[in-house]
Amino acid sequence: MAFEGLSDRLQSTIKKITGKGKVSEQDVKEMTREVRLALLEADVNFKVVKDLIKRIKERAVGQEVMESLTPGQQVIKVVKEELTDLMGGEQSKIAVADKSPTVIMMVGLQGAGKTTTTGKLANLLRKKHNRNPLLVACDVYRPAAIKQLETLGTQLNMPVFSMGTDANPVDIAGKAIEQAKEEHNDYVIIDTAGRLHVDHELMNELQQIKTTVRPDEIFLVVDAMTGQDAVNVAESFNEQLDISGVVLTKLDGDTRGGAALSIKAVTDKPIKFAGMGEKLDQLEAFHPERMASRILGMGDVLTLIEKAQTTVDEKQAKALEEKMRSMSFTFDDFLEQMGQVKKMGPLEDLLSMMPGAGKMKGLKNAQIDESQLTKVEAIIQSMTKKERQEPEIMNASRKKRIAKGSGTTVSQVNRLLKQFSEMKKMMKQMTNMQKGKKGKGMKF
Ligand code: GDP
Repeated sequence: MAFEGLSDRLQSTIKKITGKGKVSEQDVKEMTREVRLALLEADVNFKVVKDLIKRIKERAVGQEVMESLTPGQQVIKVVKEELTDLMGGEQSKIAVADKSPTVIMMVGLQGAGKTTTTGKLANLLRKKHNRNPLLVACDVYRPAAIKQLETLGTQLNMPVFSMGTDANPVDIAGKAIEQAKEEHNDYVIIDTAGRLHVDHELMNELQQIKTTVRPDEIFLVVDAMTGQDAVNVAESFNEQLDISGVVLTKLDGDTRGGAALSIKAVTDKPIKFAGMGEKLDQLEAFHPERMASRILGMGDVLTLIEKAQTTVDEKQAKALEEKMRSMSFTFDDFLEQMGQVKKMGPLEDLLSMMPGAGKMKGLKNAQIDESQLTKVEAIIQSMTKKERQEPEIMNASRKKRIAKGSGTTVSQVNRLLKQFSEMKKMMKQMTNMQKGKKGKGMKF
């Protein structure tokens, strides 16, 4: 996850000041010095840092008094609010045009993630907003780009408009909109060509497309891994095209995150989405406040909950709960539950959203061992149907067979069996507790 270095440094700075009942000017000076260094090291633009530190200093010294907070906490509140503001304050929403279709133009350098983001955005619009987008292939210079968009369209089961590599991109965009009107597509997302560097010819072409289709949004797709360069790219595209927002991609990578923190300040255009992986469902709406909270180690519980709501099937969850209550929970159910958690994404990403997770030193370096989960899955998959439902029948020869089938050892199989039986015991106690005091479980 991006921002790790920045987050670590800011959190240790904050720790020093949190508990303080009294914050002196000297304390504020020291803290802002450390915050400044942390931001510069994270590759945040130096002018942006200078302005931010000035504001934090002013506010932290002449602090507004809030009864519920200690002076130390108040200073942190100021830092969080300023970080939030820096990234754009309120989350900005995607445009909806008065008349259909709403047109979105995707622009950016080659390799930034334009085509992938076009697919992700279409997926999000359909899944979350029930929309019916048309994807348009305007990168006629690279046949592979057209093919890539068509493949995404097939994966998503969505229409892709293309006229091959001989047509003019301006004509393609215009015709695509006509088709969208005929076919009742309410969004048109245009994937344009990119170059390795910003150049005149490309800008001319993009300006012509803009004049022809009059887009409701122009999203600049920027690779967060490129650091300060991302800020320069954003500035030039904004000057030439007056973009409406930015999509920062590859925030799942090991970036220092400075770009995310500088782009809004330099271009005054909001970051609307963040790409968090290569898969089509790994695009998140960018919430400045939640991101600031994540960076400061205060967690991002809201995103976590939303993730659970979109990935976990409610019906399945209800059925599982019923099974737990009726004590008919089997290894098959266990497998299903594991699958649901896995769908939410890598465990490490989930952990990074938990408040205070960064502070648990052990956790951070523990490297969540996902291969452990794969082993558990393999063991369960090597059981027969009957064994999954009635683990009591397990004997030495069955265990040996399962260990062999799953590439594990008998003691690993034993461990899982023991864990499962303990889990069932615990469920029994909880069910008894919920039933009232009838059961033999714990009593209050
Ligand atoms: P384009 O040239 O701008 O259209 O870029 P592509 O869409 O072809 O993406 C370039 C590469 O970046 C591909 O390998 C994508 O899978 C990858 N990519 C795009 N977005 C993300 C992201 O958010 N995270 C990661 N890890 N990879 C991404």
